[in-house]
This record gives sequence, structure tokens and C-alpha cells, in this order.
Amino acid sequence: MSVEEMPPAEPGAKGRSGCLRAASISCLSVLVAIAAITVWTYFLVTQNPVYRHAYNQAVLVAECQLHLQDRSSGVDIGDALERYARRNGKYPSSLDDLYPDFLDNRDLLRCPADKGSKGASSYKYTRPAMDAPDDTPVVICRNHPVLRGQEPWMLTLYKNGRVIIRPGQVKPELKAPSTTSKMHRQPA
Ligand SMILES: [Zn+2]
Repeated sequence: MSVEEMPPAEPGAKGRSGCLRAASISCLSVLVAIAAITVWTYFLVTQNPVYRHAYNQAVLVAECQLHLQDRSSGVDIGDALERYARRNGKYPSSLDDLYPDFLDNRDLLRCPADKGSKGASSYKYTRPAMDAPDDTPVVICRNHPVLRGQEPWMLTLYKNGRVIIRPGQVKPELKAPSTTSKMHRQPA
């Protein structure tokens, strides 16, 4: 095909290539912004002591939850309690009774955030009746002061095997004092 026979360029082709270039620059800008935010967040979390404390505590909460309920492995306190109850017709009088027949790792009886004396379980256990409702709290952990100025977060294992995590409330002494406005009545 000779040069003379080549079809003329479409009128909008130049505009379209300009749009593509602009879109490429926009995509690149977004990627750079995401990378900058990622790096900034990393330094914020790792360098700021407040965020670092909260991050480390959040990791411990997640690990503690796996002690109470680990669906991937099935080796957890909730599962061990259920197997104990099925075999014995009652729940154990203490979590320590789960080891070693129903829980082969005794360390699971200790919360990863509990730095106290080793040995006995660090969880608060309330022995449920066999016919207790499914939503009966059985094991409670309050070893997680995730945010300073808050009560510790609370992890609760219920009889049906569910674990609920409740964030801590702001400590009463840190709450802003309530302002009471007195209404002054004008004398009649
Ligand atoms: Zn815990």
C-alpha cells in the first residue's frame, strides 16, 4: 500500500491517545499515593509508642481468641470442653482437668498476654450445667489493656463455642466531668 493509498488518520485518534496518557498518569499517581500511605502507616505503627502498643495488644487478642476457639485446627479450649462434657456427662470443675487427655498443649490454658506466674490457667472459668443455655458464658479473659485509658478488652467463650470480643470502656476517672447547668429562674 503506497503512502497515497493510506487512509487518513481518524479525527479523534489524537484525542484518544491523549486520554490514554492522562489515564496512565492518573493510575501512576494513585499507585504512588498508595505506596506513600503504606509506608507512612508502617512508620506510624512501628515508631509511635501508642500505636505500637495498640498493635501489639491487638495481636495478643487474636492469639488469645485462638486459644479459646480455633476452627482451623480444632485444638482449642472450647473444643476440649465440649469433648470432655460428651465423654463425662458434665463439664470439668477446672480448666486444668482438660490437660492432657483433652488438650495436649498446656500452654493453651494461659492467655498469651498474661505475664504472671506460670502454671495454673489464666482464664476465669465458670462451670456450666449440661443443660445450661448455649449463650452461657464459660471462659472469660480480661488480660488485654489494648488502649491506654480504657478498661481491658474482654474475650468471652460461650457454651456453644462462640467467642465474643468486647472493647474496653473508657476508665471512669478519665471521663470528662459532666457539666450540670443550673437554671436560674427569674423571680416572678
Ligand atoms: Zn487473653
